[in-house]
Amino acid sequence: MSVDRATVWPYEQGKLGDFYYQRYAHPTGAEAEAALGELEGGRALLFGSGTAAVTACVIALTRPGSKIALAQGAYFGTGVAFSEFAAWGLEVVEFDQTGPPPDGADVVWLEAPANPILSVPDWDAARAHGGLIVCDATASTPVFLRALDEGAHLVLHSATKFLTGHHDALLGAIATRDVATFVRLQEVRSHLGLSAAPDAALSLLKGLKTLELRVRRMTESARVLAARLDAHPAVQVVRYPGFGALISFDVAGDPVPVETATRLIKNQTSLGGVSSSMESRYRWEGDRIPVGLLRLSVGLEDPEALWTDLELALANA
Ligand code: PLP
Repeated sequence: MSVDRATVWPYEQGKLGDFYYQRYAHPTGAEAEAALGELEGGRALLFGSGTAAVTACVIALTRPGSKIALAQGAYFGTGVAFSEFAAWGLEVVEFDQTGPPPDGADVVWLEAPANPILSVPDWDAARAHGGLIVCDATASTPVFLRALDEGAHLVLHSATKFLTGHHDALLGAIATRDVATFVRLQEVRSHLGLSAAPDAALSLLKGLKTLELRVRRMTESARVLAARLDAHPAVQVVRYPGFGALISFDVAGDPVPVETATRLIKNQTSLGGVSSSMESRYRWEGDRIPVGLLRLSVGLEDPEALWTDLELALANA
């Protein structure tokens, strides 16, 4: 696997070839898009970050006065990104994605599962609504969810997380089966410069080779840890949808003495890496979530070593 970092390629007999200027497309990106598109059962486009992909959706799918129904408890940065468009007349309403989306929404924005509340969408209700469905499947990955098969018009990923998998690339992706939407997103990406870098695309190509192995092993460990956390006296609530690497759980008091006491599990933000990480989300999200909520992203370490680390840290709860 190699990476072509060129920003320009010569015209072919005076005409545009497949590649001519990196902002429009580049060979490594095209290869990675083909690989991801196959996994999702659609055509994929890469963006400079998950947030750049969210931005592209707003520009491509909405107009002033459009209403987005956003899953409650979904990644808080998605709501933050939407709020930047309030001055342009974008309306956002939050709803419980385990039930029907509100009437009158043009776009239904699901997150499967929602980060960090880990609710899963009611697909029947979302399909029956009639709005355009976007599903952020960052935490499921195409291994556990093919959102386009479920009825999503677009599936979005922060590929910064599981798809690349090693905390070495900032990257977003969208896949769709709708040709007009694909073409519009491609235009928006080029016109607004939301493009992904070739090195990040290479990281995706490498990450996809081990994606299934990684997320299945993470799930095995996460199931064990979720069950043990559930039985631990210092833990009030455990949220785990039964698949994937993300667990969120609440402790009664301040979560900071717990998150700072782990040795093996890194106290840092983000998720989806081969090394486990955990953090209190209150520092980011405030009263939107319980004060004692800790989000754990289970990596590939020995689950027994992870449990020992967690048990020792929970002594500080
Ligand atoms: N969607 C989800 C579910 C996320 O967790 C994140 C980041 O944490 C994003 C989107 C935004 O992605 P990025 O950080 O790559 O911009």
